[in-house]
Amino acid sequence: MDKATKFYITTPIYYVNARPHIGHAYTTLVCDAIARRKRMLGVDTFLLTGTDEHGQKIERSATAAGMTPQQFADEVSAAFRALFDKMNIKYDDFIRTTEPRHQQGVQELVKRLQKKGHIYKGKYTGQYCVFDELYVDAAGPGAPCPECGRPTETVSEDNYFFKLSAFADKLLKLYEEQPDFIRPETRRNEVIAFVKGGLRDLSISRSTFKWGIPVPGDPKHVIYVWLDALCNYCTAIGFGAEDKAAQEKFNRYWPPDVHMIGKEIIRFHCVYWPAFLLAAEIALPKSVIAHGWLLFEESKMSKTRGNIVRAETVIDVLGNDALRYFLLREIVFGQDGSFSFDALVQRYNSDLANDLGNLSSRTLTMIARYFNETVPYPSATASLKKADDAVRQQAETAIAEFGKLFDDYQFSRALEAAWSLVSSVNKYLVEQEPWSVADREGQENRSRLATILYTSAEALRIVTALVHPVLPESTAKIWQQLGLGDISKFDLATLKWGQLPLGGKLGKIIPVFPRADKSAIERMTQLEQERNSANAPSPSSGTATASAPAAAAPQPTIPAPQGTQTQPAAAPDGKISIDDFLKVELRVGLVKTAEKVKGADRLLRLEVDIGTEVRQVVAGIALAYEPEALVGRKVVLVANLQPRKLRGLESNGMIVAASVGEDGKPVLAGFLEDVPVGSKLK
Ligand SMILES: [Zn+2]
Repeated sequence: MDKATKFYITTPIYYVNARPHIGHAYTTLVCDAIARRKRMLGVDTFLLTGTDEHGQKIERSATAAGMTPQQFADEVSAAFRALFDKMNIKYDDFIRTTEPRHQQGVQELVKRLQKKGHIYKGKYTGQYCVFDELYVDAAGPGAPCPECGRPTETVSEDNYFFKLSAFADKLLKLYEEQPDFIRPETRRNEVIAFVKGGLRDLSISRSTFKWGIPVPGDPKHVIYVWLDALCNYCTAIGFGAEDKAAQEKFNRYWPPDVHMIGKEIIRFHCVYWPAFLLAAEIALPKSVIAHGWLLFEESKMSKTRGNIVRAETVIDVLGNDALRYFLLREIVFGQDGSFSFDALVQRYNSDLANDLGNLSSRTLTMIARYFNETVPYPSATASLKKADDAVRQQAETAIAEFGKLFDDYQFSRALEAAWSLVSSVNKYLVEQEPWSVADREGQENRSRLATILYTSAEALRIVTALVHPVLPESTAKIWQQLGLGDISKFDLATLKWGQLPLGGKLGKIIPVFPRADKSAIERMTQLEQERNSANAPSPSSGTATASAPAAAAPQPTIPAPQGTQTQPAAAPDGKISIDDFLKVELRVGLVKTAEKVKGADRLLRLEVDIGTEVRQVVAGIALAYEPEALVGRKVVLVANLQPRKLRGLESNGMIVAASVGEDGKPVLAGFLEDVPVGSKLK
């Protein structure tokens, strides 16, 4: 087969230290949408995903959870597969780094590096961040990790080193000659600056724990988890395998066309990985694309902040397509984007239920009613009106624009291009009033009606085909309702105006996007809470719940959904250091004004004097406190939180409250003695 007709795309393999959340879902569904379009275009596509299961952090988390590392990895890896199945992700393979095929391939690659003289034995003394599984060369003992701010650990052990320093020039040449190797541009500049800053040799083995792949020839050492993990991209498709079929697969698909990653792991993919491949003399991937972070109402979604949202929750209430559409349409791909239930429901209603849903149901219902469920023949006698031609032209533009933008990873703009066609056709229907034309007698009116309905049905067919990779489930239904059968058999490369078969019989018409009302948000909030309590190891008593954040989102704050194993890797027992605690600035504040926030039952807007300034804080305590009862009251404020926006209001800080009873009623923290405004708590 022709190499040019293959497309190999990978997600990162997900570290099993954390259960899957919407961030993992985002990366994966982006890749799924890309892969679906390629397949529709007739390209031999291979989508790889999987889980990264070795390393010190996993060993520690497993111990803390009272499991073996393998049991631990099995459980979390299964959770990822279950999520991707629920999300209807069409991956071609799911690699686990604990599989023999992977271990064998990794050892083969390391052997090549050894044989070619790129590895030497030395002693590493320096700092290591277990959370990021990252060597932090520049930091001194006890210094925080520059990536995540957590304390680093001093390691001093015999290690094998990879001569990374020898590859700086080759890497810079690669970035120069292959500008698409790193996308977007901002990330590319970041990487170039990092490499120009000088590269040190990289320790690629650890000897103080066991959970990893042994170094060939020296099994007391395990291979550095990042080297191990990165190799999945080649081991999954047969690198290092002995059987012929696997080798052929490798020859067919290597090198990858796209490694899709989050921006936080750019250095591993754009510096270390190509250096390993250059050293092993294996062809390099064509491009690494880094997307931004998914924020929850403007703040970073993280276990630490406890504001993680599950993809399952959105899927259960609004369906897969709603989640996919929202994330691809709302977020400018490559940049950080914000997720909120409010925005999700709004998008769903306006774009899916209203725009596309209405176009589909109006057009199909009228064809059913006026033409006995049969696609009408557009008028051949009466000449087309300008408006009919305009729709056709817009459809042709949409085909071209959507393809160009989508293939350039500008998903949001691609969808905009498709939706501008949807809006035009809806407007066309309103202006042409087919329902009035249908009321008028005569052959001329009948033929005009046929033209209008054919034109809108054909435009609907084109939009449906274009957005199928993004909305696979609902477009499959619309396609059937148009009487076209199985959409997955459609050859997208042939898409053009005029292919809707005349006289074709429609399928059964059912609404595809039922409108979501306010209860959708409540149901999602409810589900998140249920899932949190189901997942909680055992409600940790006392301190953990006594300081539930009261500056809640319109939904009560989404608490950390994971079990013990997913606590940020501070100490294995889940405790944090005094330094970590001291990072939180708690101050006594005096409430100056308080008022309800319009349209948000739970929220109050407060102005709080903290001695040095007056802060605006939005707090989720309206169900428990009347605004007037709060004025003049002293409260405890977390003063150094990043500001975030709630209902358009900036909230600068968080009021500390106990969370009481099953429904988590907030009770404000206070003092028995009088304390001056602005006092620091420690
Ligand atoms: Zn770190």
